[in-house]
Amino acid sequence: DSKIITNAPAPEGIQGEGFFAGKLSDVVGMARANSLWPLPFATSCCGIEFMATMASHYDVARFGSERMSFSPRQADMLLVMGTIAKKMAPILRQVYEQMAEPRWVISVGACACSGGIFDTYSVLQGIDKIIPVDVYVPGCPPRPEQILDGIMRLQDLVRSESVRRRSSPEYTELLASYNIK
Ligand code: SF4
Repeated sequence: DSKIITNAPAPEGIQGEGFFAGKLSDVVGMARANSLWPLPFATSCCGIEFMATMASHYDVARFGSERMSFSPRQADMLLVMGTIAKKMAPILRQVYEQMAEPRWVISVGACACSGGIFDTYSVLQGIDKIIPVDVYVPGCPPRPEQILDGIMRLQDLVRSESVRRRSSPEYTELLASYNIK
């Protein structure tokens, strides 16, 4: 049976047994959303929750994201988990810059989102000070269900955005505001 099985709402277009036809951006969006390759950038406790998310009980493979990549060039979903010290910030930014477009970022946990409890001179008060963030997952730490929810929300975004959104003037302007070329 060649029916396409997906948790995405059926794209608009002609549908029938064994095939559908639709807009290119819908098909590309669906393919991208169901094969996001994660790059886990984990520095502390929230990373442990992600390990649980990877394991069989929560099984991130159900969402097409079991293929971890520790090379930024072969990943399109950057998950930042844990406290990011200001000394670490340039490294995180370099990792982001090395990822090819399209690329998306999930900020996992209070520390990555806002510095969390570490309101000190040495800790970055949120990764969105240095890179654009698509989805924020709150919590200290967030449970694996919340991390999965963040991935599903990112899938919604990826599915719905145009193939060319990343080259739109708005996106270029956003990147320019981070001084990233
Ligand atoms: Fe650890 Fe909490 Fe920070 Fe996550 S948000 S890295 S659990 S202190």
